[in-house]
Amino acid sequence: MGRPRIRYRMSSLAAVFVQAIIPRKVDKDAQAELYKRFGISPEHCIYCGSPSTDEDHLHPIVKEGRPSGYFHTKENILPARGTCNQSKSGADWRSWIEGNAAKSPNAAGIAERITRIAAFAKTVENPIIAPGEMRRVVGPELWDRYWRRLDEIGKLMDDAQADADEICAALASEFETRVSAATRAAKGTDSEAWFGLAATFLRRIGSIVETGLRRSREPASNSDGP
Ligand SMILES: [Zn+2]
Repeated sequence: MGRPRIRYRMSSLAAVFVQAIIPRKVDKDAQAELYKRFGISPEHCIYCGSPSTDEDHLHPIVKEGRPSGYFHTKENILPARGTCNQSKSGADWRSWIEGNAAKSPNAAGIAERITRIAAFAKTVENPIIAPGEMRRVVGPELWDRYWRRLDEIGKLMDDAQADADEICAALASEFETRVSAATRAAKGTDSEAWFGLAATFLRRIGSIVETGLRRSREPASNSDGP
């Protein structure tokens, strides 16, 4: 697994920037009534029929890091299982459900589900506020400042990444130095032992030779003596 890049967090950060500005107010009674009208069970995932754990936005709220124009409204919320919700992510619901994305419920009985979802989807066919209109509605100054902040965070992330690369290189270099020092020390122990043995051997040889020399001299010295 590679070292994570700080920039990888940018897409989830952009998603939060979008989610933070999209109003959320859903009348639970009206939602229950709407589900009843379309034969939707709030306890079951609309896509695969498993017990639901999440609220899925039929039309994703975020599109390429900016508002899609779809809101958090009862017409755009469907009960879903976490795995379906995550697998669908920012994809168009129909191409996802008919496609082969990992954990997409492309299986038997899907046609009936598609019909049901398509009928529900008609309640929210177009964005309530088109993305292009948002800047005007909010005011260009505030709107631009907000997205500039996201860019600034992106730049900070790039700066942090450059520092991270430098820090990582320094740590890797020190790590290498320490590992090779440890390897050398381990090898050193071996050669010291070998030198120890060799020295002992040479000392023995030396003493044998010395003894031999002494003995060879001894008779001479003896004969020299009185
Ligand atoms: Zn599901």
